[in-house]
Amino acid sequence: MTHDAAALAQRLSAMVRVPTVTPLTKDPLSPETASVFTAFQDLLRELYPTVFAVAEVSVVGRAGLLLHLPGTGGDPDPAGPGSLLLMAHQDVVPAPAEDWEGTGWTHPPFAGTVSEGEDGLTVHGRGALDDKGALLVLLEATEDLLAEGWRPRADVHLLLGGDEESYGASAAAAAEELERRNVRPWLVVDEGGAVVTGIVPGLTTNAAVVGVAEKGLTTLQVTVSADPRKPAHASTPPRRSAAGGLARAILALEKHPHPVHLDDVALRMFTGLAPHVPGLLGRALARTDRLQPFLGRILPLAGPELAAMVRTTTAVTMLQASPAPNMLAATARAIVNMRVATWSSVSEATAHVDNVVRRAVGRGLHVDVQVLEGSEPTPPSPMDGRWDAIRTAIAAAYPDAVVIPYTMLAASDSRHLARLAPAIYRFSPLFMSTAQRASVHGVDERVTADSLLRGVRFYRALLFGHDDASRRGPREEASATS
Ligand SMILES: [Zn+2]
Repeated sequence: MTHDAAALAQRLSAMVRVPTVTPLTKDPLSPETASVFTAFQDLLRELYPTVFAVAEVSVVGRAGLLLHLPGTGGDPDPAGPGSLLLMAHQDVVPAPAEDWEGTGWTHPPFAGTVSEGEDGLTVHGRGALDDKGALLVLLEATEDLLAEGWRPRADVHLLLGGDEESYGASAAAAAEELERRNVRPWLVVDEGGAVVTGIVPGLTTNAAVVGVAEKGLTTLQVTVSADPRKPAHASTPPRRSAAGGLARAILALEKHPHPVHLDDVALRMFTGLAPHVPGLLGRALARTDRLQPFLGRILPLAGPELAAMVRTTTAVTMLQASPAPNMLAATARAIVNMRVATWSSVSEATAHVDNVVRRAVGRGLHVDVQVLEGSEPTPPSPMDGRWDAIRTAIAAAYPDAVVIPYTMLAASDSRHLARLAPAIYRFSPLFMSTAQRASVHGVDERVTADSLLRGVRFYRALLFGHDDASRRGPREEASATS
């Protein structure tokens, strides 16, 4: 397969043109949606014939594909390099299909326009970065290696999710299927980080940020109720209303955020960046461990992204009170969406809100805090030989980038795999400028062909390097990593 930039761009363009918009419900796919995903998978089979010929292909969930490339080396050493699970998803978030003019998009979101501009050859459209670009480079590298006659020593699974952007049901189904087959991946790669610029002010180099942990997520419903025996007419309001109580609760939540803490991942992240940050900030970051209390106070002020990295966040999203203009609300409700820090838990985060809310609402009102959904944060992945394998593959593709671990703020499909695989690294091997990062789930999503070329190099190095390692005996492996 030719690996010139233009050919990669054309193949990604073809993928963008199939509008695999995420199914919005948990129900079975409608015939229309199902036919779009079928068309997309037909395209994949056409573009990557060797992958689909060599792999055992299973459908997982509604539109997910699980591809198994059987290893040739028999049972791998449980402690040494083992099987890989490499993930990317086929579905995309919505974008205007027809009436796209005036919505901020420069090119039609599903036209797959390829342009030659300032940044070189670029593919435009929904999914160019999230996550079809990553899916393309994964399949390109695998196709190439297989076509050259390479076969993996240990099992390789490719999981192409079909509904990551809604509930990730296909990834959950894949986890069940892998569990049934008794597969315990040694290393998992899924979307998350990328190669980025400017994550801290003044950073002089590109940073390849790799998600080694994922925050938890919980949604709470806070209900404040007034005494039901009191009159409910708006002409005779009480001193303390349910709506007023809820308002006090919300203000208190903003005034009392969760405590700040710099965990191991944050320490590694900041000290790793320090040599590439000039001036006072660089010197402070180099001493993150000793300056913990100071940085803990400063970082939340440096922007919402840094703030979210060092604490559990609380966002009040939905509000509900009286149904009529002349009626007092008997109950007032708020939905609170929290992203739980890795060192905390859903119950601890809930207790914090419960405590703050109860104190703020005041006497004479009834408060209820209910957990609507909760998923715990994932523990950090090990920084052992597997982290080295990721770093080596990044160096092959982006030799100038500093490789940094971080905690992912959003949830990814790989959370479903956490119980099977303790080593999950969330990283798309694509370069994303600050503007490109904003284009994910936004307008003008785009990726450069240069990024795609580098992405192929990353997966090639990961697959091939991993295979090299598994060819070595356990003893050689041990001395190589020590
Ligand atoms: Zn995604």
